[in-house]
Amino acid sequence: ILELSNVSKYYDKKKVLDNISLKIKKGSVNVILGPSGCGKSTLLRCLNGLEPIQEGNIVFSGINLNDKKIKWEKIRQRIGMVFQSYDLFPNMTVIENILLGPLKVQKRDKSEVLAQAEELLEKVGLADRKNSYPKELSGGQKQRIAIVRALCMNPEIMLFDEVTAALDPEMVMEVLEVMLNLAGQGITMVIVTHEMRFARAIADKIIFMDEGKICEMKDPETFFTNPETERAKLFLNKFT
Ligand code: ATP
Ligand code: MG
Repeated sequence: ILELSNVSKYYDKKKVLDNISLKIKKGSVNVILGPSGCGKSTLLRCLNGLEPIQEGNIVFSGINLNDKKIKWEKIRQRIGMVFQSYDLFPNMTVIENILLGPLKVQKRDKSEVLAQAEELLEKVGLADRKNSYPKELSGGQKQRIAIVRALCMNPEIMLFDEVTAALDPEMVMEVLEVMLNLAGQGITMVIVTHEMRFARAIADKIIFMDEGKICEMKDPETFFTNPETERAKLFLNKFT
């Protein structure tokens, strides 16, 4: 569904992504690991056009994202993204936040979207909070709402950037569980996380990055039990 070939990105002269080649298969769960500053967030931002790339190609569902003529507005509707800071609109209720994109951007039918939103809220255990305002919710609840809001656009792929990093420990699990459920439903996902046990449990493929490069790309069992590179060994040692 998504293919990167020889992608490099620079901030001024600094190379932050270095010759990245990667295939994301439909229905697969891909977890990106690596030390702080290695380029994980930058890579996700390039995938949905928030950042331009200087070299290489990204092809999403047969569309070359380098093509000057492509309409990003259309593409972004097909790529869901959830960040560390759940950027819900504070002046709107939960349900208004969720319906905004599907109604205003996608121009879908209100009753259809509402039914979908309610079903998704049910799934994340927040059906009773649809008329709450973001400030009335905990961090974990807000993050689950942010996930529902992205899902309600029916994206073909979901990108997650450290969605639990800002949460209190007791709220991390409830968000990870939602993501585990999504994985079980066959949604294509690219996840950046520092939760190693979660990464091991959810991933079909681990992508380990360092200094803008992909150092290892393999199934989680092999990666965690038998990392090949010194960099990966050093990285994993910090978590044990
Ligand atoms: P973390 O685990 O801390 O989130 P990361 O792997 O997500 O780190 P990135 O945020 O992708 O790392 O940053 C990669 C590199 O690019 C870093 O060296 C960072 O300083 C640099 N960088 C990121 N954003 C910008 C920017 N807007 N302008 C200039 N340099 C940037
Ligand atoms: Mg980051």
